[in-house]
Amino acid sequence: MQDCIFCRIVSKEIPSKIIRESEQVIVLQDIAPKAPIHFLIIPKKHIRDLSSCDSQDSSVLSDILMMAQALSKEVPGAENFKLLVNNGHSAGQRVFHLHFHFLAGKVFSE
Ligand code: AMP
Ligand code: ZN
Repeated sequence: MQDCIFCRIVSKEIPSKIIRESEQVIVLQDIAPKAPIHFLIIPKKHIRDLSSCDSQDSSVLSDILMMAQALSKEVPGAENFKLLVNNGHSAGQRVFHLHFHFLAGKVFSE
């Protein structure tokens, strides 16, 4: 999708700080971090939001969760982490290309 910022980051058309990359997934440093560690785990394939996923997306969704586990093991200070998806505008979604926020490095309140 040409007008999607995350598709343009995936295709390296827009520069970003890439933390990790696998066949189906890319991990970026969030540009406006809300925790000492704030990454975005993003499917390379354009998917609008979690509600748009179907059974064909189960493999990429699984890769996203396993990527979160790998980050937790490999990034110092990320043993405990929060994984967050904003699904839809009212829930706070502003970029309509599915992404999971990976947050760590502080004590989170309820
Ligand atoms: P959401 O509100 O769940 O859609 O989250 C969008 C996230 O993308 C926010 O945390 C933004 O700070 C982040 N973001 C937007 N543009 C970029 C960018 N070019 N590089 C990295 N993170 C970005
Ligand atoms: Zn996209």
